[in-house]
Amino acid sequence: MSTQRTLSIIKPDAFEKNAVGSILKMITDSGLKVVACKTTRMTVKQAEGFYAVHKERPFFGELTAFMSSGPIVVSVLEGEDAVTKYRELMGPTNSNEAPEGTIRQAFGTNIEKNAVHGSDSADNAKIEVDFFFSANELRGLLG
Ligand code: ADP
Ligand code: MG
Repeated sequence: MSTQRTLSIIKPDAFEKNAVGSILKMITDSGLKVVACKTTRMTVKQAEGFYAVHKERPFFGELTAFMSSGPIVVSVLEGEDAVTKYRELMGPTNSNEAPEGTIRQAFGTNIEKNAVHGSDSADNAKIEVDFFFSANELRGLLG
């Protein structure tokens, strides 16, 4: 294990619930460090690009409409084993199956409106960080 970075998105459902502060607190309480963070919003086209891996799935249209429906908070999180650690903190995709102590249990609604995104590998984390953050925004932060 080593220091890793992962990309977190607080999704439009959680933003609308006014849960941004609570979710960032759960993240920092877990020991992960927020090294970059901003509020933004995706167009449908950007959401289709971000979730291109899911384009054949039946829920793709719904997912990209949802993800572009309102503001989001994107963060780069850093820490020991950050990819796995953050996915454990998020809980499973289906919020209804998420255990106590997870973000999705606390703030998710169902399998789609599940409050947060987290990268699923270190390689994808790099791609996802570059999707949202410019070189200048990351200047001096990423080794
Ligand atoms: P995760 O976000 O846990 O990595 P996936 O990568 O499988 O999950 O799916 C990406 C996102 O697509 C999920 O977070 C959720 O918002 C949505 N999603 C996944 N499965 C479904 C489904 N069966 N129906 C509707 N939306 C879904
Ligand atoms: Mg995923």
